Amino acid sequence: MAPSIPENLENVRHLISQYEKKYARIPDSVQLLTVSKTHAAEKIMEACQAGQKHFGENYVQEALEKISTLNAYNLTWHFIGPVQSNKTRAIAENFHWVHSVDRLKIAQRLSDQRPKSLPPLNILLQVNISHEDSKAGVSLDELDTLARSCNELDNIVLSGLMAIPSPVKEFEQQRGSFHALREARDHLINQGIVSCQHLSMGMSNDFEAAIAEGATIIRIGTDIFGERG
Ligand SMILES: *Cc1c(COP(=O)(O)O)cnc(C)c1O
Repeated sequence: MAPSIPENLENVRHLISQYEKKYARIPDSVQLLTVSKTHAAEKIMEACQAGQKHFGENYVQEALEKISTLNAYNLTWHFIGPVQSNKTRAIAENFHWVHSVDRLKIAQRLSDQRPKSLPPLNILLQVNISHEDSKAGVSLDELDTLARSCNELDNIVLSGLMAIPSPVKEFEQQRGSFHALREARDHLINQGIVSCQHLSMGMSNDFEAAIAEGATIIRIGTDIFGERG
């Protein structure tokens, strides 16, 4: 029988703390974001009962249904998929974090549409770090300008950077991309954008390399919920 969601969570948490030790990271400095896209609300409930509170979703309509079903659990929702302009209002009203902002227009809309009754929305800028073919992500060249503009907006906080490097098997190659994202983050902090602390990087296949390079949030789907259908 396949291991249960609580067992998977236990295993991943154990690996996180091992890697924190191995790479001289501060204990509990790496946050586990469980990616629940395509998985039913019941599975999220199981993870929640095993102590997991942060969930990542990629599709707005699917996420809104789960957020509403699971309202009583007080979960923290992260939007990690491509953001279309016609979905920014739903995202601004229902999520706590957005990891995938890659242009100013989207950041502006999220800021304008964030309800004043809620705390500012945490946003991460998605960087196209390994020049992957997918067009998502701001280039390193344009990152500074975008970050400075986002930093001026009222109802969002520029909380860090995110990347989805092209999948590679080799550990040192994985580290290379994550290292570049870390340097970009450090540069922005040195430029005075001190809120830009988080590094959302690492998925089921490469989170050891991401933790080695300073990830503060790893986004894990398959290793927790199993293969997506
Ligand atoms: C699906 C997804 C993940 C999770 O990937 P796994 O390989 O299943 O761990 C992480 N980040 C993003 C942006 C995703 O779309």
